[in-house]
Amino acid sequence: MPTLKFAVLAGDYIGPEVMTEALRVLEHVAKQENLTLAYTKADVGGAGIDNHGKALPDSTVRLCEQSDAILFGSVGGPKWEKLPPHEQPERAALLPLRKHFTLFANIRPGLLYRELTDASPLKTERIPDGIDILCIRELTGGVYFGKPKETTTLPDGDIQAVDTMVYRKSEIERITATAITAARGRKKRLCSIDKANVLETSVLWRKTVTAYVAQHAPDLELSHMYVDNAAMQLARNPNQFDVFVTENMFGDILSDEMAVICGSLGMLSSASLGAGKNSLGLPFGLYEPAGGTAPDIAGKGLANPCAQILSAALMLRYSFGLEKIAARIEAAVKQVVTSGTRTADIAFGGSSVGTKAMADAVIKAL
Ligand code: NAD
Repeated sequence: MPTLKFAVLAGDYIGPEVMTEALRVLEHVAKQENLTLAYTKADVGGAGIDNHGKALPDSTVRLCEQSDAILFGSVGGPKWEKLPPHEQPERAALLPLRKHFTLFANIRPGLLYRELTDASPLKTERIPDGIDILCIRELTGGVYFGKPKETTTLPDGDIQAVDTMVYRKSEIERITATAITAARGRKKRLCSIDKANVLETSVLWRKTVTAYVAQHAPDLELSHMYVDNAAMQLARNPNQFDVFVTENMFGDILSDEMAVICGSLGMLSSASLGAGKNSLGLPFGLYEPAGGTAPDIAGKGLANPCAQILSAALMLRYSFGLEKIAARIEAAVKQVVTSGTRTADIAFGGSSVGTKAMADAVIKAL
Protein backbone atom coordinates (compact mmCIF):
# COMPACT_ATOMS: atom_id res chain seq x y z
CA MET A 1 0.00 0.00 0.00
CA PRO A 2 1.78 3.23 -1.13
CA THR A 3 2.30 5.78 1.66
CA LEU A 4 1.94 9.47 0.90
CA LYS A 5 4.11 11.45 3.31
CA PHE A 6 3.45 15.17 3.14
CA ALA A 7 3.47 18.28 5.31
CA VAL A 8 0.24 20.23 5.70
CA LEU A 9 0.78 23.97 6.17
CA ALA A 10 -2.72 25.44 6.17
CA GLY A 11 -1.77 29.01 7.13
CA ASP A 12 -4.28 31.75 7.96
CA TYR A 13 -7.90 32.91 7.56
CA ILE A 14 -9.54 30.67 4.89
CA GLY A 15 -6.34 28.55 4.67
CA PRO A 16 -7.39 26.05 7.39
CA GLU A 17 -11.03 26.09 6.19
CA VAL A 18 -10.25 24.95 2.66
CA MET A 19 -7.42 22.68 3.83
CA THR A 20 -9.82 20.70 6.04
CA GLU A 21 -11.94 19.97 2.99
CA ALA A 22 -9.01 19.07 0.73
CA LEU A 23 -7.82 16.59 3.37
CA ARG A 24 -11.30 15.05 3.55
CA VAL A 25 -11.22 14.54 -0.22
CA LEU A 26 -7.75 13.00 0.01
CA GLU A 27 -8.84 10.68 2.85
CA HIS A 28 -11.73 9.57 0.67
CA VAL A 29 -9.61 8.74 -2.40
CA ALA A 30 -7.00 7.11 -0.16
CA LYS A 31 -9.65 4.72 1.11
CA GLN A 32 -10.88 4.02 -2.43
CA GLU A 33 -7.42 3.56 -3.90
CA ASN A 34 -5.77 1.74 -1.02
CA LEU A 35 -3.27 4.50 -0.24
CA THR A 36 -1.94 5.40 3.20
CA LEU A 37 -1.87 9.11 4.02
CA ALA A 38 0.93 10.05 6.41
CA TYR A 39 0.58 13.80 6.79
CA THR A 40 1.57 16.12 9.63
CA LYS A 41 0.23 19.62 10.17
CA ALA A 42 2.44 22.58 11.10
CA ASP A 43 2.07 26.33 11.59
CA VAL A 44 3.12 28.81 8.93
CA GLY A 45 2.53 32.51 8.22
CA GLY A 46 0.52 34.42 10.80
CA ALA A 47 -0.09 31.19 12.72
CA GLY A 48 3.69 30.73 12.87
CA ILE A 49 4.16 34.28 14.16
CA ASP A 50 1.46 33.88 16.82
CA ASN A 51 2.54 30.45 18.06
CA HIS A 52 6.32 30.41 17.48
CA GLY A 53 7.38 34.05 17.02
CA LYS A 54 8.20 33.70 13.29
CA ALA A 55 6.37 33.10 10.03
CA LEU A 56 8.44 30.06 9.12
CA PRO A 57 9.24 28.23 12.37
CA ASP A 58 12.31 25.94 12.35
CA SER A 59 10.11 22.99 13.34
CA THR A 60 7.99 23.60 10.23
CA VAL A 61 11.06 23.62 7.97
CA ARG A 62 12.27 20.37 9.59
CA LEU A 63 8.89 18.74 9.00
CA CYS A 64 8.97 19.77 5.33
CA GLU A 65 12.49 18.38 4.96
CA GLN A 66 11.25 15.02 6.22
CA SER A 67 8.28 15.02 3.81
CA ASP A 68 7.87 14.15 0.13
CA ALA A 69 5.73 17.24 -0.60
CA ILE A 70 4.11 20.27 1.01
CA LEU A 71 0.40 20.94 0.77
CA PHE A 72 0.15 24.67 1.47
CA GLY A 73 -2.91 26.86 2.16
CA SER A 74 -2.22 30.58 2.13
CA VAL A 75 -0.76 33.06 4.58
CA GLY A 76 -1.19 36.65 5.74
CA GLY A 77 -3.98 39.05 6.46
CA PRO A 78 -4.94 42.20 8.36
CA LYS A 79 -3.87 40.84 11.74
CA TRP A 80 -0.16 40.98 10.77
CA GLU A 81 -0.20 43.89 8.32
CA LYS A 82 1.47 46.33 10.74
CA LEU A 83 4.63 44.19 11.01
CA PRO A 84 7.74 45.41 9.17
CA PRO A 85 7.79 44.18 5.55
CA HIS A 86 10.50 41.54 6.10
CA GLU A 87 8.44 39.97 8.91
CA GLN A 88 5.17 39.87 6.94
CA PRO A 89 3.81 36.31 6.61
CA GLU A 90 4.06 36.04 2.81
CA ARG A 91 7.55 37.44 2.55
CA ALA A 92 8.89 35.70 5.66
CA ALA A 93 7.33 32.30 4.98
CA LEU A 94 6.78 31.67 1.28
CA LEU A 95 9.94 33.23 -0.15
CA PRO A 96 12.27 31.40 2.30
CA LEU A 97 10.42 28.13 1.61
CA ARG A 98 10.92 28.61 -2.14
CA LYS A 99 14.58 29.37 -1.55
CA HIS A 100 15.22 26.58 0.96
CA PHE A 101 13.80 23.91 -1.33
CA THR A 102 14.93 25.56 -4.60
CA LEU A 103 11.35 25.56 -5.87
CA PHE A 104 12.34 26.79 -9.32
CA ALA A 105 9.34 25.74 -11.41
CA ASN A 106 5.92 27.23 -10.82
CA ILE A 107 3.19 25.43 -12.72
CA ARG A 108 -0.19 27.15 -12.90
CA PRO A 109 -3.11 25.72 -14.82
CA GLY A 110 -5.31 28.43 -16.33
CA LEU A 111 -8.57 26.55 -16.37
CA LEU A 112 -12.07 27.89 -16.90
CA TYR A 113 -14.88 25.44 -17.59
CA ARG A 114 -17.22 26.30 -20.45
CA GLU A 115 -20.10 26.52 -17.96
CA LEU A 116 -18.26 29.25 -16.01
CA THR A 117 -17.35 31.59 -18.85
CA ASP A 118 -19.52 34.26 -17.22
CA ALA A 119 -16.92 34.43 -14.43
CA SER A 120 -14.34 35.72 -16.90
CA PRO A 121 -14.04 39.43 -17.76
CA LEU A 122 -13.47 38.31 -21.38
CA LYS A 123 -16.43 38.23 -23.76
CA THR A 124 -17.90 34.73 -24.02
CA GLU A 125 -17.46 34.72 -27.82
CA ARG A 126 -13.69 34.90 -27.28
CA ILE A 127 -13.73 31.81 -25.07
CA PRO A 128 -16.79 29.78 -26.14
CA ASP A 129 -15.28 26.58 -24.72
CA GLY A 130 -13.75 28.16 -21.65
CA ILE A 131 -9.97 28.32 -21.15
CA ASP A 132 -7.45 25.53 -20.78
CA ILE A 133 -3.81 26.64 -20.79
CA LEU A 134 -0.75 26.08 -18.61
CA CYS A 135 1.77 28.64 -17.38
CA ILE A 136 5.28 27.52 -16.39
CA ARG A 137 7.12 30.28 -14.54
CA GLU A 138 10.78 30.21 -13.49
CA LEU A 139 10.62 31.00 -9.79
CA THR A 140 14.07 31.37 -8.27
CA GLY A 141 16.04 33.52 -10.73
CA GLY A 142 15.77 36.79 -12.59
CA VAL A 143 15.34 40.30 -11.30
CA TYR A 144 13.72 39.33 -7.97
CA PHE A 145 16.91 37.65 -6.76
CA GLY A 146 19.77 39.19 -8.79
CA LYS A 147 22.48 41.19 -7.01
CA PRO A 148 23.22 44.07 -6.67
CA LYS A 149 19.83 45.04 -5.37
CA GLU A 150 20.16 48.33 -3.55
CA THR A 151 19.23 51.96 -3.16
CA THR A 152 22.12 54.45 -2.92
CA THR A 153 22.54 58.18 -2.65
CA LEU A 154 24.72 59.45 -5.47
CA PRO A 155 27.48 62.10 -5.08
CA ASP A 156 25.15 64.71 -6.62
CA GLY A 157 22.52 63.99 -3.93
CA ASP A 158 20.16 62.14 -6.24
CA ILE A 159 18.90 58.72 -5.14
CA GLN A 160 19.34 55.64 -7.32
CA ALA A 161 17.83 52.17 -6.99
CA VAL A 162 19.19 49.12 -8.79
CA ASP A 163 17.73 45.66 -9.41
CA THR A 164 19.69 43.13 -11.39
CA MET A 165 18.18 40.69 -13.84
CA VAL A 166 20.38 37.65 -14.12
CA TYR A 167 19.98 34.15 -15.59
CA ARG A 168 22.34 31.26 -16.08
CA LYS A 169 22.04 28.89 -19.02
CA SER A 170 21.64 25.99 -16.58
CA GLU A 171 18.66 27.70 -14.90
CA ILE A 172 16.99 28.21 -18.29
CA GLU A 173 17.66 24.61 -19.28
CA ARG A 174 16.09 23.12 -16.16
CA ILE A 175 12.86 25.15 -16.49
CA THR A 176 12.77 24.26 -20.20
CA ALA A 177 12.99 20.58 -19.23
CA THR A 178 9.96 21.03 -16.93
CA ALA A 179 8.07 22.80 -19.72
CA ILE A 180 8.90 20.00 -22.17
CA THR A 181 7.45 17.38 -19.80
CA ALA A 182 4.31 19.47 -19.34
CA ALA A 183 3.89 20.10 -23.08
CA ARG A 184 4.32 16.40 -23.84
CA GLY A 185 1.48 15.63 -21.43
CA ARG A 186 -0.80 18.02 -23.34
CA LYS A 187 -0.89 19.16 -26.98
CA LYS A 188 2.87 19.14 -27.61
CA ARG A 189 2.89 22.88 -28.21
CA LEU A 190 5.22 25.15 -26.24
CA CYS A 191 5.47 28.94 -26.42
CA SER A 192 8.49 30.58 -24.80
CA ILE A 193 7.94 34.18 -23.72
CA ASP A 194 10.76 36.71 -23.40
CA LYS A 195 11.87 40.23 -24.31
CA ALA A 196 14.77 39.24 -26.55
CA ASN A 197 14.52 42.48 -28.53
CA VAL A 198 15.73 44.44 -25.47
CA LEU A 199 17.16 42.26 -22.70
CA GLU A 200 20.43 40.31 -22.64
CA THR A 201 18.92 37.72 -20.31
CA SER A 202 16.13 37.20 -22.82
CA VAL A 203 18.60 36.74 -25.70
CA LEU A 204 20.24 33.95 -23.68
CA TRP A 205 16.77 32.64 -22.73
CA ARG A 206 15.62 32.35 -26.35
CA LYS A 207 18.87 30.84 -27.58
CA THR A 208 18.93 28.30 -24.74
CA VAL A 209 15.28 27.26 -25.05
CA THR A 210 15.64 26.87 -28.83
CA ALA A 211 18.75 24.71 -28.55
CA TYR A 212 17.44 22.64 -25.64
CA VAL A 213 14.12 21.85 -27.31
CA ALA A 214 15.86 21.04 -30.62
CA GLN A 215 18.13 18.59 -28.82
CA HIS A 216 15.74 17.03 -26.30
CA ALA A 217 12.23 17.49 -27.71
CA PRO A 218 12.19 17.79 -31.51
CA ASP A 219 8.67 16.31 -31.33
CA LEU A 220 7.36 19.58 -29.83
CA GLU A 221 6.15 22.61 -31.76
CA LEU A 222 8.11 25.50 -30.24
CA SER A 223 7.25 29.17 -30.74
CA HIS A 224 8.54 32.40 -29.20
CA MET A 225 6.69 35.57 -28.28
CA TYR A 226 7.69 38.92 -26.77
CA VAL A 227 6.14 39.45 -23.35
CA ASP A 228 4.29 42.66 -24.24
CA ASN A 229 2.60 40.88 -27.15
CA ALA A 230 1.90 37.85 -24.91
CA ALA A 231 0.05 40.07 -22.43
CA MET A 232 -2.17 41.27 -25.30
CA GLN A 233 -2.64 37.83 -26.83
CA LEU A 234 -3.72 36.38 -23.46
CA ALA A 235 -6.54 38.90 -23.32
CA ARG A 236 -7.39 38.57 -27.03
CA ASN A 237 -7.35 34.80 -27.51
CA PRO A 238 -5.94 32.87 -24.53
CA ASN A 239 -6.47 29.44 -26.08
CA GLN A 240 -3.92 30.15 -28.82
CA PHE A 241 -1.46 29.10 -26.10
CA ASP A 242 -1.30 25.60 -24.75
CA VAL A 243 1.78 25.57 -22.52
CA PHE A 244 3.86 28.73 -22.13
CA VAL A 245 7.15 29.06 -20.29
CA THR A 246 8.70 32.29 -19.10
CA GLU A 247 11.11 33.89 -16.63
CA ASN A 248 10.24 34.94 -13.10
CA MET A 249 8.92 38.51 -13.37
CA PHE A 250 7.16 38.02 -16.72
CA GLY A 251 5.57 34.88 -15.27
CA ASP A 252 4.49 36.71 -12.13
CA ILE A 253 2.59 39.24 -14.22
CA LEU A 254 1.25 36.92 -16.93
CA SER A 255 0.07 34.30 -14.43
CA ASP A 256 -1.96 36.95 -12.60
CA GLU A 257 -3.46 38.09 -15.89
CA MET A 258 -4.26 34.45 -16.59
CA ALA A 259 -5.91 34.11 -13.16
CA VAL A 260 -8.18 37.08 -13.78
CA ILE A 261 -9.31 35.91 -17.21
CA CYS A 262 -10.07 32.51 -15.66
CA GLY A 263 -12.60 33.97 -13.24
CA SER A 264 -12.53 33.08 -9.57
CA LEU A 265 -9.35 32.59 -7.58
CA GLY A 266 -11.31 29.91 -5.74
CA MET A 267 -10.81 27.54 -8.69
CA LEU A 268 -7.10 27.98 -9.45
CA SER A 269 -4.37 25.69 -8.19
CA SER A 270 -0.59 25.80 -8.51
CA ALA A 271 2.49 23.65 -8.06
CA SER A 272 6.03 24.80 -7.33
CA LEU A 273 8.49 22.02 -8.08
CA GLY A 274 11.92 21.79 -6.53
CA ALA A 275 15.30 20.95 -8.00
CA GLY A 276 15.59 18.03 -5.56
CA LYS A 277 13.86 14.68 -5.68
CA ASN A 278 11.76 13.27 -2.85
CA SER A 279 12.18 9.81 -1.34
CA LEU A 280 10.22 8.37 -4.27
CA GLY A 281 12.63 9.84 -6.82
CA LEU A 282 9.97 12.33 -7.97
CA PRO A 283 10.09 16.15 -7.73
CA PHE A 284 9.66 17.58 -4.25
CA GLY A 285 6.99 20.26 -4.54
CA LEU A 286 4.83 22.82 -2.78
CA TYR A 287 1.18 22.84 -3.82
CA GLU A 288 -1.09 25.79 -3.10
CA PRO A 289 -4.16 27.67 -4.33
CA ALA A 290 -3.44 30.69 -6.53
CA GLY A 291 -5.46 32.99 -4.25
CA GLY A 292 -4.69 34.39 -0.83
CA THR A 293 -6.31 34.11 2.59
CA ALA A 294 -9.54 35.94 1.61
CA PRO A 295 -10.04 37.66 5.02
CA ASP A 296 -13.30 39.18 3.69
CA ILE A 297 -15.02 35.79 3.71
CA ALA A 298 -12.98 33.91 6.34
CA GLY A 299 -14.84 32.22 9.20
CA LYS A 300 -18.15 32.26 7.32
CA GLY A 301 -17.94 28.85 5.65
CA LEU A 302 -18.16 30.52 2.23
CA ALA A 303 -14.72 29.89 0.73
CA ASN A 304 -14.47 27.77 -2.38
CA PRO A 305 -12.38 24.69 -1.49
CA CYS A 306 -11.84 23.67 -5.14
CA ALA A 307 -8.48 25.45 -5.58
CA GLN A 308 -7.12 23.63 -2.53
CA ILE A 309 -8.59 20.31 -3.66
CA LEU A 310 -7.12 20.79 -7.16
CA SER A 311 -3.75 21.67 -5.59
CA ALA A 312 -3.89 18.35 -3.74
CA ALA A 313 -4.53 16.67 -7.12
CA LEU A 314 -1.42 18.34 -8.53
CA MET A 315 0.54 17.00 -5.55
CA LEU A 316 -0.62 13.47 -6.36
CA ARG A 317 0.37 13.96 -10.00
CA TYR A 318 3.84 15.51 -9.65
CA SER A 319 5.24 14.42 -6.27
CA PHE A 320 3.59 10.99 -5.98
CA GLY A 321 3.27 9.98 -9.65
CA LEU A 322 -0.45 9.19 -9.25
CA GLU A 323 -1.67 10.65 -12.54
CA LYS A 324 -4.87 8.62 -12.76
CA ILE A 325 -6.01 9.53 -9.26
CA ALA A 326 -5.14 13.20 -9.84
CA ALA A 327 -7.21 13.15 -13.03
CA ARG A 328 -10.11 11.51 -11.16
CA ILE A 329 -10.15 14.32 -8.59
CA GLU A 330 -10.00 16.95 -11.35
CA ALA A 331 -12.86 15.26 -13.18
CA ALA A 332 -14.95 15.12 -9.98
CA VAL A 333 -14.46 18.85 -9.35
CA LYS A 334 -15.40 19.60 -12.94
CA GLN A 335 -18.49 17.40 -12.75
CA VAL A 336 -19.70 19.10 -9.55
CA VAL A 337 -19.14 22.65 -10.75
CA THR A 338 -20.51 22.15 -14.24
CA SER A 339 -23.60 20.38 -12.96
CA GLY A 340 -24.46 23.47 -10.91
CA THR A 341 -23.21 22.93 -7.35
CA ARG A 342 -21.28 26.11 -6.67
CA THR A 343 -19.88 28.30 -3.93
CA ALA A 344 -20.88 31.98 -4.00
CA ASP A 345 -17.77 33.14 -5.90
CA ILE A 346 -18.84 31.12 -8.98
CA ALA A 347 -22.63 31.16 -8.55
CA PHE A 348 -23.21 34.56 -10.26
CA GLY A 349 -25.99 35.44 -7.85
CA GLY A 350 -27.68 32.03 -8.21
CA SER A 351 -28.08 29.59 -5.37
CA SER A 352 -24.84 28.59 -3.70
CA VAL A 353 -23.48 26.14 -1.16
CA GLY A 354 -20.84 26.55 1.54
CA THR A 355 -17.29 25.23 1.81
CA LYS A 356 -18.16 21.90 3.40
CA ALA A 357 -21.12 21.13 1.12
CA MET A 358 -18.93 21.80 -1.92
CA ALA A 359 -16.38 19.27 -0.72
CA ASP A 360 -19.18 16.82 0.13
CA ALA A 361 -20.34 17.08 -3.50
CA VAL A 362 -16.82 16.39 -4.78
CA ILE A 363 -16.56 13.35 -2.48
CA LYS A 364 -19.91 12.11 -3.74
CA ALA A 365 -18.80 12.55 -7.35
CA LEU A 366 -15.66 10.55 -6.58
P1 NAD B 1 -7.16 37.09 -1.93
O1 NAD B 1 -6.76 36.18 -3.01
O2 NAD B 1 -7.07 36.56 -0.54
O3 NAD B 1 -8.65 37.60 -2.17
C1 NAD B 1 -9.04 38.30 -3.36
C2 NAD B 1 -10.54 38.06 -3.60
O4 NAD B 1 -10.72 36.72 -4.03
C3 NAD B 1 -11.37 38.23 -2.34
O5 NAD B 1 -12.59 38.84 -2.66
C4 NAD B 1 -11.59 36.82 -1.85
O6 NAD B 1 -12.77 36.66 -1.11
C5 NAD B 1 -11.61 36.04 -3.17
N1 NAD B 1 -11.14 34.67 -2.97
C6 NAD B 1 -9.84 34.23 -2.86
N2 NAD B 1 -9.81 32.92 -2.62
C7 NAD B 1 -11.11 32.51 -2.60
C8 NAD B 1 -11.75 31.25 -2.40
N3 NAD B 1 -11.05 30.13 -2.18
N4 NAD B 1 -13.10 31.20 -2.43
C9 NAD B 1 -13.83 32.28 -2.68
N5 NAD B 1 -13.31 33.51 -2.88
C10 NAD B 1 -11.96 33.62 -2.83
O7 NAD B 1 -6.24 38.41 -2.08
P2 NAD B 1 -6.06 39.64 -1.10
O8 NAD B 1 -7.38 40.02 -0.48
O9 NAD B 1 -5.31 40.62 -1.88
O10 NAD B 1 -5.10 39.11 0.04
C11 NAD B 1 -5.51 38.68 1.33
C12 NAD B 1 -4.30 38.21 2.10
O11 NAD B 1 -3.77 37.04 1.45
C13 NAD B 1 -3.17 39.22 2.13
O12 NAD B 1 -2.59 39.22 3.41
C14 NAD B 1 -2.19 38.70 1.10
O13 NAD B 1 -0.87 39.07 1.41
C15 NAD B 1 -2.37 37.21 1.26
N6 NAD B 1 -1.97 36.43 0.09
C16 NAD B 1 -1.33 35.27 0.34
C17 NAD B 1 -0.95 34.47 -0.72
C18 NAD B 1 -0.24 33.18 -0.42
O14 NAD B 1 -0.21 32.75 0.70
N7 NAD B 1 0.30 32.51 -1.41
C19 NAD B 1 -1.27 34.83 -2.04
C20 NAD B 1 -1.97 36.02 -2.26
C21 NAD B 1 -2.32 36.82 -1.18
